[in-house]
Amino acid sequence: QLADSLFIINNFAREYFSHNLLESEEGQNVGLAYFEERGFTKETIQKFQLGYCSNERDTFARTALSKGYNLDYLQKTGLVAIRNEQPADNYRGRVIFPIHNQSGKVLGFGARILVKNDRAPKYINSPENEIYVKHKVLYGTYFARHSIDRLNECLLVEGYTDVISLHQAGIENVVASSGTSLTVDQLRLIKKYTNNLTILFDGDNAGVKAALRGLDMAVEEGLNVKLVLIPDKEDPDSYVQKIGAPAFRQFVADNKQDFVLFKLQTSMQEAGNDSTRKSQLVNEIAETISKIDKVEDFTRQQDYIRQCSQLLKIDEQGLIMLVNKFIR
Ligand code: ATP
Ligand code: MN
Ligand code: MN
Ligand code: MN
Repeated sequence: QLADSLFIINNFAREYFSHNLLESEEGQNVGLAYFEERGFTKETIQKFQLGYCSNERDTFARTALSKGYNLDYLQKTGLVAIRNEQPADNYRGRVIFPIHNQSGKVLGFGARILVKNDRAPKYINSPENEIYVKHKVLYGTYFARHSIDRLNECLLVEGYTDVISLHQAGIENVVASSGTSLTVDQLRLIKKYTNNLTILFDGDNAGVKAALRGLDMAVEEGLNVKLVLIPDKEDPDSYVQKIGAPAFRQFVADNKQDFVLFKLQTSMQEAGNDSTRKSQLVNEIAETISKIDKVEDFTRQQDYIRQCSQLLKIDEQGLIMLVNKFIR
């Protein structure tokens, strides 16, 4: 019941913001101009049901209340807040990205400020409530699921605009973690469609570190994880807009690397000649390899053992023994 009410309000808000973007003067001059500036076509804007919330204090809140929507529920969705004892819009002057579940119902919103500044957060996302549970959601699943199924691969990016730009470039098997590191629930959502996960992360250090943290969990969940590092200062959105769809596809194909081997190589560089760090690292990699399901994926485990022992310059049999120690 409560959940249904929140879905109904979100759906109303989605339609309202979308109409506002496409039909109102402010929406066209400010919101639509912003999206067009970013290279999004009308078709893309409509597909993702993007919107705009007026910069007036309470245009949305007043409309929603006059249509009989309940103030408590409006607050629960995060669309409306009480300011100076009066209902006010939370996403004033922002462009709106609806966040859909797998069947296309709106769970919540991301709202982006038009011009970045130090006083306000770049994105405001819906607060957690009965229907929006952040760690279970991957942005774009609704639009990506058929393509993921067909290609038997899921691309993972960081942000809303990465998903949208890649779709516009014809790459549709893509979802976003929305800036946080991956959770088990999100990995299981991906596993409903495919075992092959390719992570396309911003070239900045934070992006790579966040990606590395998800590795052992992803391997444990039985996913086959590949990594593509996007060049420094770019993200998938800016990069595909810069070099175009065909070159971007080629870049991904040429730069896809195995995640386990990547992690090993980065740790080896970090360890340098420190022998304690090195043996620690051998243990870590053995543990990671041990988590690959032998029954389901025997050859993959063997491949890793061969490749890792070569990289580490250690005896293959020794690594096998170590791996077995971690298998109960
Ligand atoms: P844009 O291209 O519009 O600047 P982006 O997706 O490249 O957006 P990033 O800074 O790379 O933005 O962040 C990745 C994702 O993290 C965003 O899409 C958003 O989901 C989330 N995010 C970023 N900043 C915030 C914030 N201040 N509060 C909450 N979530 C945020
Ligand atoms: Mn980033
Ligand atoms: Mn970006
Ligand atoms: Mn980004």
